[in-house]
Amino acid sequence: MKHFRKVDDITLSKETLTATSYSLGTIINLRVQGREAEQAIEKALGRLNDIDDKMSAFKKDSEISKINLKAGVTSQIVSKDTYLVIKEAAKYSRLLDGAFDPTIRPLVSLWNIGTAQERIPEQCEIDKRLKLVNYKDVILNESNSSVMLRKEKQALDLGGIAKGFAADEIRDIFYKYNIKSALIDLGGNIFAFESKEDGTPWRVGIQDPFKARGEFMGVLSVRNKSVVTSGNYEKYFTQGGKRFHHIIDPKTGYPSVSKIISATIISDNSIDGDGLSTGVYIIGIDKAMALIECISGVDAIFITEDKKTYVTSGIKDIFAIANEEFLSE
Ligand code: ADP
Ligand code: MG
Repeated sequence: MKHFRKVDDITLSKETLTATSYSLGTIINLRVQGREAEQAIEKALGRLNDIDDKMSAFKKDSEISKINLKAGVTSQIVSKDTYLVIKEAAKYSRLLDGAFDPTIRPLVSLWNIGTAQERIPEQCEIDKRLKLVNYKDVILNESNSSVMLRKEKQALDLGGIAKGFAADEIRDIFYKYNIKSALIDLGGNIFAFESKEDGTPWRVGIQDPFKARGEFMGVLSVRNKSVVTSGNYEKYFTQGGKRFHHIIDPKTGYPSVSKIISATIISDNSIDGDGLSTGVYIIGIDKAMALIECISGVDAIFITEDKKTYVTSGIKDIFAIANEEFLSE
């Protein structure tokens, strides 16, 4: 059991094992069916901690912290994993014209949303930090797998994409261990592996952004798909009747105020879903719908603040709205 650092619970129910743990700053739930489920879970949890050790912006020995410490000074050689995730983050930054930006950390650490220090910063502090946020300042060198940030005080934050990478890694581990069926839930970043134990599609609930956690506004039926949601209900505080949530618009330095309050991406790979969900949340409903319709094999469900639901053409038949208060556009 040496890989298990923070496993709270592993229970056996017939041929299906479930495990709950904490990693990547979130609650991990795995439900796994297969003869080698126990080994698969052990490997998966070990891999999650390995990814967290490399990519956390909070752990001082992580590769990300080393890059951040050397910002504006020199480059840092990183593992294949970290290099790949930063490269993908840069790809989504370009695609989303900077709405997604892995150099968002100076703003994230200014707002501190979800921590005891959360507060509305002074405008001058926001302006100062805004100058540090620019994905074009991430200098990648494939030949020696090194990364450097151009300016001092710049800093990376992979919180918007690392869970997607981790979900894909767990999927690959599950294939190696001949897993038949599994639900990989990394704090709401879901990978529905193959189908349910009885062979029917997985039914993934989409959180009702106006209700308590666990209350769904609709259900998606999927096999072997990643389902990732970015929502304004994940981490936030309210002040003066306004909600300040954890998805920061790199153009304004404030939590995004597009009409979208929940963006779900359905895709084959979770790294794509995670990278896209954070960025499309910010660009607004018209651009978001147009962009996702153009990417083959990727679909989306958007919910706007006026309770309208927008669904891309590829999933019309597999998404059912359960709460009629949500009008379909
Ligand atoms: P969650 O972490 O709730 O699953 P997301 O995938 O949308 O949700 O990621 C939100 C996290 O991404 C934030 O907590 C922050 O660390 C980071 N982040 C915030 N705004 C941006 C942005 N514009 N671009 C990239 N990352 C961001
Ligand atoms: Mg994301």
